[in-house]
Amino acid sequence: MDYYSNQITKLIEELSKLPGIGAKSAQRLAFHIINMSEEQVERLSDTMVKAKKQVRYCKECFTLTDQELCPICSSEKRNHGTIMVVENPRDLAAYEKTGKYEGVYHVLHGAISPMLGIGPGEIKLKELMQRLQGDVKEVIIATNSSLEGETTAMYISKLIKPTGITVSRIASGVPVGGDLEYIDEVTLLRALEGRVLL
Ligand code: ZN
Repeated sequence: MDYYSNQITKLIEELSKLPGIGAKSAQRLAFHIINMSEEQVERLSDTMVKAKKQVRYCKECFTLTDQELCPICSSEKRNHGTIMVVENPRDLAAYEKTGKYEGVYHVLHGAISPMLGIGPGEIKLKELMQRLQGDVKEVIIATNSSLEGETTAMYISKLIKPTGITVSRIASGVPVGGDLEYIDEVTLLRALEGRVLL
């Protein structure tokens, strides 16, 4: 690709490291950026740097936020006695879109996968167990219905059961292997309402 200037080649290289961006898209984006005004480019890069610097994990539920506590954890309107366990912040967003869930969340940032060498210590499980020492009545496990999601659900329910806290699993009917974020709101609500006790 040395028929471009060095700077453009570098830009294309960096862009193509982003997920879902192949060589062609990277090239198109690079030329688009070059054609943007300097002000627009600065705003874009500033926003990226600021987001990266200021966004962190909520100290309670571990979703991404720029405050110490995310808006859900700091809301008095939410039921803090019910915790829904999800794999990532995108799943949380999917449930929030339904507008019907009133509890709080816990974001694991992954799922247990023996095949990929991801053990219980690699996800935010210890942090979940610590939260359960507070006044928690129910834990709803809403990990994906993939093999990893099911393994994680089983592992968590075994850990929680001895504590006497109610543990439930969102109903199946969520497509196998389907990422929660791609499932429509009605299906998600049905899965939540039809949750089964473990
Ligand atoms: Zn939070």
